[in-house]
Amino acid sequence: MFVFSTYPRKLKILADAAKYDVSCSSSGSKRANTNKGLGDATGMGICHSYTEDGRCVSLLKILLTNHCIFDCAYCVTRKSNDVKRAAFKVQEVVDLTINFYRRNYIEGLFLSSGIFKSADYTMERLVAVAKKLRLEENFNGYIHLKSIPGASDELMREAGLYADRLSVNIEIPTEAGLKKLAPDKKRKDFIKPMLKVKNEIIQYNAEKKIIKSTPKFAPAGQSTQMIIGASGENDFQIMQTSNHFYKSYNLKRVYYSGYVPISYDNRLPQIGSAVPMLRENRLYQTDWLMRFYGFDVSEILNEQHQNLDLDVDPKLSWALRNLHEFPVDVNTADQRMLARIPGLGMKSVFKIINARRFRKLNWEHLKKIGVALNRAQYFMVCESNQFEKRDLTPEKIKGFILQNSTSKYQKTLSNQLNLFG
Ligand code: SF4
Repeated sequence: MFVFSTYPRKLKILADAAKYDVSCSSSGSKRANTNKGLGDATGMGICHSYTEDGRCVSLLKILLTNHCIFDCAYCVTRKSNDVKRAAFKVQEVVDLTINFYRRNYIEGLFLSSGIFKSADYTMERLVAVAKKLRLEENFNGYIHLKSIPGASDELMREAGLYADRLSVNIEIPTEAGLKKLAPDKKRKDFIKPMLKVKNEIIQYNAEKKIIKSTPKFAPAGQSTQMIIGASGENDFQIMQTSNHFYKSYNLKRVYYSGYVPISYDNRLPQIGSAVPMLRENRLYQTDWLMRFYGFDVSEILNEQHQNLDLDVDPKLSWALRNLHEFPVDVNTADQRMLARIPGLGMKSVFKIINARRFRKLNWEHLKKIGVALNRAQYFMVCESNQFEKRDLTPEKIKGFILQNSTSKYQKTLSNQLNLFG
């Protein structure tokens, strides 16, 4: 078979080296198939495909090269690491992508790279892959390009014209951590390309409203990834950084990747002390609460509460610490408070708001709507007294919920991306 027989060694090395990057979700693009081209990233054209631990595998995910001039302590590709090295030529990545795509193995390409020679030298080649795919192969599949920290504005602008999504990894949540583990890197080298992409997206979108033929610029936006647990930051610091980047750079997603100890280095956690999957899961849940449930990060994490509870999800944890806000009357509460009731997802919130225009809701109605009553019953009232248990302490409520939800909470221990029910 072409793809395996042509570059088996390179492919193995460069696909293996890319697996540490989790920022590869392919949602949000609306690139339609044009000119009878190859592939279609419109809406459902891109399928989400995740491994058991929740990582996306629907894209051909490779590095252009794992040669690197930098020596970031947490990275398998660092220059001092004794690993096999390889590099693809631009045309080879184009050929691989097309062949994998034609065989239906992938919906698109996720291309990253170690830095060889310089940021611009590397970025130029990443852009060349995307450009060839779009212009020479007429490829309409999904392309996610990693931006190389320190790449020039001009290359970032060009990258956005061919890629659906761009991302620059923040990598370490704090500047102090970055200085300790990646002394070659500066926070400003991430910020500059991120800012450029943000401004270009705003500008292109504004122009598109006036001139329909304006090309799309990174239509699926930009994302970033943070490595968790390599540099000792607590969850409060991590989510503060996340919040800052969402707000300042209009990011679509922040990905949280638990550090897997891979080397003996006294700056890093010891081998065998990997970050529990559950911690990643709780960070994703908090991220979700900030983006879709109207929570401010300081409500969930603050100086008094610097790390997320592992035994209950962050919304339940917040509710237990703020029992004075409950019970909420589902027949009269506003959207903000409904969204704060444990056991209610946003879909249920909207259904409740819609349904209560016609009748007063009771527990039966709420059950039909899909509310998880085993949790919600302690935090709400409705047109019925059934289930009402008042004057319970947070510890008692937590005990009841854990007791009655064993399967769900046990499952959470092993499921990476099991968000809110
Ligand atoms: S620059 Fe990127 S690829 Fe190179 S060592 Fe640092 S993290 Fe790894």
